[in-house]
Amino acid sequence: MAHSHHLGALGQRKPCRGDHNLHMPEVAVHTSEHSVNTMSTDSEFRVAVMPGDGIGPEVCDVCLKVLHALVTRVAGLQLMTEVLAGGAAHYRDTGVALPDESTKAAEDSDAILFGAMGLPDVRMPDGTEINPQVTLRIGLELYAGVRPIKAMPGMPLPLADPRARDIDLVIIREQTEGLFADFQDKGTRDGDTAVDRCVVTRAGTSRVVDFAFRLADFRRSKGRPGHVTCVDKANVLTSMAFFREIFDERRGNFPTVDAGHAYIDATALNLVRQPRTFDVLVTENLLGDILSDLAAGLIGGMGVAPSADIGDRHAMFPPCHGSAPDIAGIDKANPIALLLSAAMMLDWLGERHHVSACLTAATRLRQAIERGFANGLIRPYDFGGTHGTRKIAQTVIDNINTR
Ligand code: NAD
Repeated sequence: MAHSHHLGALGQRKPCRGDHNLHMPEVAVHTSEHSVNTMSTDSEFRVAVMPGDGIGPEVCDVCLKVLHALVTRVAGLQLMTEVLAGGAAHYRDTGVALPDESTKAAEDSDAILFGAMGLPDVRMPDGTEINPQVTLRIGLELYAGVRPIKAMPGMPLPLADPRARDIDLVIIREQTEGLFADFQDKGTRDGDTAVDRCVVTRAGTSRVVDFAFRLADFRRSKGRPGHVTCVDKANVLTSMAFFREIFDERRGNFPTVDAGHAYIDATALNLVRQPRTFDVLVTENLLGDILSDLAAGLIGGMGVAPSADIGDRHAMFPPCHGSAPDIAGIDKANPIALLLSAAMMLDWLGERHHVSACLTAATRLRQAIERGFANGLIRPYDFGGTHGTRKIAQTVIDNINTR
């Protein structure tokens, strides 16, 4: 059952500009104040909220409170949220993982804020879990999974080398094909053999590779190296040799950006050994899925790793983590990953619709989190601290209010 809630003063709602093909990659990685002179200040945005399972509802709940604080503090920021049903528990109770009305509302929204879906003990007849997030990624063509990995000042880091503070990379995961291509048809299996195909298409690869190059170009303009690494298994798999071939074709269109290749196995090693040497990495769906968890470990784990699923017409903002059933319901989930995803959402809305208030709010949210880490008032359980979900969110709210 969906329910709506206004987070801002009611304003003239602009139509959802789903046909506006301005998927600026930089929205996902803005960290500085923006020039706001030519932007409008009167848009209300409709945010579809999908809390899902496990810790999803807990982190979504506090995220909405933080967004509310931003709405009261940032002039012109107007959000209308609609909480939607879906997930493994919903599937267990109703036989449907993602109700049609949730899908429709998500499609009609300006952005989707997503908690986490899936529970290990709720499975389909073929043994797989329900994965509505994958259904949405494929259905809404959210082809670029943007996973920034950046250490924040004051954040306790797991790596002993002090240069770990300089880690600043982005993994771009292709999200509509690759080894997830059979997701909807469920591959094939009989009593002896199960097969999933790895499908790599020219169109699917071109758009995600271009996205990665545009992002690297943008980051170069902000002082980063401007380098894209194509991560694959092109030494063994035909599909990935094709991925690499298309990467090499497209790189010619981005002469200001450096490019290189690396195999997935060596990349797993080098992300641990020398993570500072990476800038932007682009890779196939499953490889990106795995690599982004590994990379999250470099900055402390899943609790601080945000993401954005970007397409040309829609975008969804989940944390990198899943439903974490092991810590669900005990106020131990770290909400920072979703809060950073919410900041990416505000950036994306602001850039796409030219609304300065969203960009201001994104910056203010990040600053509030950074201050919390820097002054020791954010020490989540997954960082060895004693601050729970609600306390961390309250610190962020206090910092928003006392800026
Ligand atoms: P997970 O990300 O849920 O948890 C992995 C580990 O990280 C656990 O130890 C967990 O406690 C910890 N963790 C995760 N998020 C945290 C947070 N915010 N704060 C502190 N610790 C956190 O991965 P999993 O255990 O492999 O999967 C659990 C369920 O989530 C499965 O059903 C899986 O299918 C699903 N899943 C969903 C998504 C999604 O909705 N996008 C993504 C991954 C996994």
